[in-house]
Amino acid sequence: MGECLRRACPCLEPLWQRVFNDKKPSPEDPGGGGAVVQTEPSPAQTSDRVSESSSIYTALWSFEARHQDELSFQEGDLFCVLSRSGDWWTARKIDKNGRVLDTGIVPNNYLARAESLEMQPWFYGKMNRFEAQGHLMGPGNEEGAFLIRHSEKDNIGYVLSVRSSSRVKHFKVHQANGSNFLVDPNHQFSSLIDLVEHYCDNSLTNTGKLGKPCKRKKPNISDLNHFTVDEWELPKEEFLLEEQLGSGNFADVYRGRWKNHINVAIKILKNDSEMNKREFHREVQILKSLRHRHLISLFAVCTASPPYYIITELMEKGSLLSFLRGPDGQHQDVASLIDMGAQVADGMSYLEEKNSIHRDLAARNVLVGEDYICKVADFGLARIIKEPFYITEDKKMPYKWSAPEAISHGKFSNKSDVWSFGVLLYEIITYGGAPYPALSNQEVHEQIMKGYRMPAPSKCPNFLYQIMKKCWSTEPADRPDFKSLKIQLDSCSYELE
Ligand code: ADP
Repeated sequence: MGECLRRACPCLEPLWQRVFNDKKPSPEDPGGGGAVVQTEPSPAQTSDRVSESSSIYTALWSFEARHQDELSFQEGDLFCVLSRSGDWWTARKIDKNGRVLDTGIVPNNYLARAESLEMQPWFYGKMNRFEAQGHLMGPGNEEGAFLIRHSEKDNIGYVLSVRSSSRVKHFKVHQANGSNFLVDPNHQFSSLIDLVEHYCDNSLTNTGKLGKPCKRKKPNISDLNHFTVDEWELPKEEFLLEEQLGSGNFADVYRGRWKNHINVAIKILKNDSEMNKREFHREVQILKSLRHRHLISLFAVCTASPPYYIITELMEKGSLLSFLRGPDGQHQDVASLIDMGAQVADGMSYLEEKNSIHRDLAARNVLVGEDYICKVADFGLARIIKEPFYITEDKKMPYKWSAPEAISHGKFSNKSDVWSFGVLLYEIITYGGAPYPALSNQEVHEQIMKGYRMPAPSKCPNFLYQIMKKCWSTEPADRPDFKSLKIQLDSCSYELE
């Protein structure tokens, strides 16, 4: 790896000497030990920071500071990381000789270790096939554009995804003897870099040579800035409302901007008069701590005066229900639909692990992002915002999604969420079809209690229908948990990778 970096960036030789510790600095060499003194940890710093003193990071994108403690930087800037806390790290910006230019807080997902695979322009880290398709089919990419990703599925490992004839092909990268990399049995490579170099010059089966690395998009930041990780009550004046995105029973949702430059979704609650502010804050604090790539990030709330605002990340393609019913959704093949179900199961499995219950899981409460990533929204909010409403206005209860014990006895659990997930799978595989189309809410409840279950939708693969029926087991204990649902849905589309 050292040689590769040296070849790629010879101008950073003084830095590579420091990183790889292979040359004693000479007195004439300004890039040697003298300059490095500044990056040595102070006695107040902990010993693990000392051991990290040679970890140099590179910025993959430029970033504009949003708070006085944060650092602005350009793509390619170098950093020495001092401490890591969640998504925000304290780092020193250094020049190529290792001299310190500035110190401050930076978003960790904008940085990659200088000596790592992550620094390769084509390496995308953990990503599913759906997102890879979103990136490769995006503007700026042509035939042959490629990336290597680490599959989200436990048993797959690395996958080479290539844009070819207006679609994306996925090649599993096998590992022979646990070390050599190969996509076809005749050519083995000792590293992914060698594999990529080979297929840039030689054709892949039925695909041609690799072209340019996929154009990178900046990753989302799951906070407005590092400060709002803990301080999530913000003044309304900092938010600008733009067009309305949707309207639900409990809120109107707008596209908006924070401090005029960060895109957000602003949910304006309708029923704040019924809400206990302290309880609301307690719940929001819990929700704020739930972080997962398949859950919507809650950024902030504005509760100084009614109506309350809930600020979340913006999901460009709106609700999964409207997505599936629209032209974009209608083009998705069965493998992609199952993949969406697996993404939801992944987010729900995290909630399950954190002992959190959703209570209103349905396609209308899953949102789709620019890269077709699916995220569960409104988790936990059902209890604080929606429950009084559900109880007082009986008809509004989502009967067709609710487990029998939730309707009859108000018993909500992860297993009642699993029941709803079965209905969500039905919505997905029917491209946004309405469940129990011929029955009223009351009839659905009566029929379910008598043992009736929806028949398999046309074109629904049998294994998927069997999963749905398991989710609709009368006894909550007989239903699968989300962890095993994710594994089952992943392995269904194993062949498609
Ligand atoms: P309610 O909880 O009152 O039913 P929703 O949260 O379902 O309201 O929001 C209504 C609609 O607003 C959704 O169907 C979706 O189209 C849109 N919406 C909600 N949150 C977002 C978001 N974060 N990004 C983009 N659109 C959103």
